[in-house]
Amino acid sequence: MQKHGNYKHLNRICAGLIIALFCFGIFKVYFEDNLEQSAFVEIKGCIIVIDPGHGASDSGAIGTNTKVKEKTINLAVALKLKALFENAGATVIMTRDSDEKIAYNKDSDMYTRRILIRDSNADLVISIHCNRFYGSSAAAGPQVYYCKGSEKGELAAKYVQTQLNSKLAPAKKRKQTIGDYYILKSGKAPCILVECGFLSNAREERLLQQSSYQDKIASAIFAGTRQYFSTRPLQSQAQEPQSISESAQP
Ligand SMILES: [Zn+2]
Repeated sequence: MQKHGNYKHLNRICAGLIIALFCFGIFKVYFEDNLEQSAFVEIKGCIIVIDPGHGASDSGAIGTNTKVKEKTINLAVALKLKALFENAGATVIMTRDSDEKIAYNKDSDMYTRRILIRDSNADLVISIHCNRFYGSSAAAGPQVYYCKGSEKGELAAKYVQTQLNSKLAPAKKRKQTIGDYYILKSGKAPCILVECGFLSNAREERLLQQSSYQDKIASAIFAGTRQYFSTRPLQSQAQEPQSISESAQP
């Protein structure tokens, strides 16, 4: 009888354990799902335009030592950024997602990008570039530009700049600044232009070609954007500056 009683006891313990494991499983799935959803609550549903600068016959800046083309790095970073945003539930519109030409010449190319941005209804536009400084090979560090008078653009630029400085630890930590660039004036959506680093600086030229470094850039831009969406002045309906004619190309 005692033996039978022990089995009964053991059965109860096993049943209890199975129920506990089952409940834990349900809780874990529920908790993780909610955690995942809440992790990107700021990004979910947003429309982001990503603009990888240059492309096709327009190479952009050329690396001093390796002759790498800026357009290639821009596209690589942009595609990584696209994946991060899409994974977070955003809709991403790319001005280009390959090295195919967008239009028959540079002016037409830029105009096509502007129209796409203007009609996108985007919450934020992010243009990706790499820098080059002919005066000195020592110039270094990513820098984020925004359009003069765009409060939202300035805020987004500030957060992205801070994240880039923190995650990339560049030789020189730059500050976000006003840029007089054509793409920054392409519509009502706030727009930032990210110069990811200098192709005239040997160290950064090497790093910018590394997939792991490109991952860091994309993740810094993404993190800064998340901060922007979580703290932006609750969409004061203030109009962003309208597009103004021509200006510099980055
Ligand atoms: Zn460029």
